Formats: sequence, structure tokens, C-alpha cells
Amino acid sequence: MDFESFPKIETTGKPESSNKCGLCTHSTCCTYVTQQIDTPRSKYDFEILLWQVSHRGVGAYKDEDGWFVMFDTVCGHLEADGYCGIYEDRPTICRSHDNDFCEYDAPAEDGFELYFPDYPTLLAYCKKRFKKWSTGNPAPG
Ligand code: SF4
Ligand code: SF4
Repeated sequence: MDFESFPKIETTGKPESSNKCGLCTHSTCCTYVTQQIDTPRSKYDFEILLWQVSHRGVGAYKDEDGWFVMFDTVCGHLEADGYCGIYEDRPTICRSHDNDFCEYDAPAEDGFELYFPDYPTLLAYCKKRFKKWSTGNPAPG
């Protein structure tokens, strides 16, 4: 992700919700998508997750709402100046996104109970969680 391509705007003090997005330097909320998944429990569940986070830009996390896979990918409508190119027609998810406390204030990771940005971090977790972890855990039959 090339955040440097977005213009840098100096931000000082605490902005109001009404002008916050206009001051936001990186529009981070437009640079990823997430998909909730069933809570992984078995070794095979984690094998699937390991496969997913092996791909560039794919991570996983758990927060108070459950488990999610996260795809680090910039929205095709995000313009170089940091504004939405389809603002009037933007999806409902974008319209309902609350900027009261968002990535402008703190990284989303701060609210994660578990965070696996890549394969090594998830593999380390699997080895800790399952005493007899080994690659090639059989698929449920
Ligand atoms: S919701 Fe937050 S992260 Fe998204 S553009 Fe507005 S201030 Fe930036
Ligand atoms: S449609 Fe607009 S508001 Fe929604 S993620 Fe894309 S750039 Fe952001």
C-alpha cells in the first residue's frame, strides 16, 4: 500500500466529526476490506486460515465481534486527493461508517484481541494453541 501517494495534510488538535474526514491524511478506512468468519476451532480450521494469510495483503484478527479475515486493498474509488470518487453513490457500508473513533484516532489493531498480519504470526499461535501442531493436519473426513 502506497500511503505516500496521498497528500499529507498537517493535523493539529482534535477535529470535529464534520471536518475530520477532510483532514484525514491516509483515508485508512478505504484501504481494506474485512469478512467475518466462523470461529476457527480445529487444526483444520487453522490450516485454512494459514493458507489465507499466506497471501500478500491478507491477515486475520479477532475482536469483540469475533474472527475476521482482512484484505489490505485500496478501494478503486479512492482518488489521489484522498476523496471518494463516487461519494453520492457510495455503498451503504461506507455511509454508515462512524468516524467518531476511527483509524484517524488510533490504529484498528489497538482494538484487536488477536492479530495475525501474516503467516509466521499465525503459525506461532497455532504451535502455542495446539500442543501437537504439525503441518499436514488432516482435513475432517
Ligand atoms: S472515517 Fe476516519 S479513517 Fe476514514 S476518512 Fe474519515 S477520518 Fe479518515
Ligand atoms: S466507495 Fe468511497 S467511501 Fe467507500 S471505500 Fe471506496 S473510496 Fe471509500
